[in-house]
Amino acid sequence: MLGLNCVSELIFTPRCIGCGIRSSGLCSDCQESWVFRQLVSHICGVTIFSEVAYSAVAGKILLAAKENGLREADEFMFAALDCSLQRFLTKNLSQPLLVPIPSQRSSNRRRGRNFVTDLAQRLGDRHNLQISEILIHSRKVADQSLLNSIERNANLSHALVVSERFGGGREVLLVDDLVTSGSTLKEAIRALKSSGFCVVGAITACVALPLR
Ligand SMILES: [Zn+2]
Repeated sequence: MLGLNCVSELIFTPRCIGCGIRSSGLCSDCQESWVFRQLVSHICGVTIFSEVAYSAVAGKILLAAKENGLREADEFMFAALDCSLQRFLTKNLSQPLLVPIPSQRSSNRRRGRNFVTDLAQRLGDRHNLQISEILIHSRKVADQSLLNSIERNANLSHALVVSERFGGGREVLLVDDLVTSGSTLKEAIRALKSSGFCVVGAITACVALPLR
């Protein structure tokens, strides 16, 4: 039978979020995969600011934050998004409305929260920017991670609508955790522009390279 000390050691021994070895936060090997690189890509003429190139380690951190609600992983994601936002604000004088990319309702129910909206809210509080969940799904979409890029575009085509029409040119900055093929951001940009909003940029924590 395990002694109390052994049990508490099993429960409380800090593990690297990236690979699971004994280490607090990220071990030195995994830290090499979580480097802020000031990455920039473009979708539909909109500039996307990201910090971390997607990797197996980044995937583990994202999953631990998003699906397991691990506070430490949340902080990694928030720090990357915060850097992306600061870069946007340095290059742009606007005070845009932060608009999070929505998750499916079923995902929010499973997670017990709206992951990207929570991160966007923290960014808004820190930088004194307004946030609004004006993007909503008009229909159910399949899990993007199971699809190729052509299927992703088809899956998301006209899948988002804006709850508030006639934006009157209001400047909007999109917020998401990860950009892969760009089809989600592309659809969000389309929906917002067609409702009269001006999309001035997007920020994500991670980006799957290469993205032009
Ligand atoms: Zn590690």
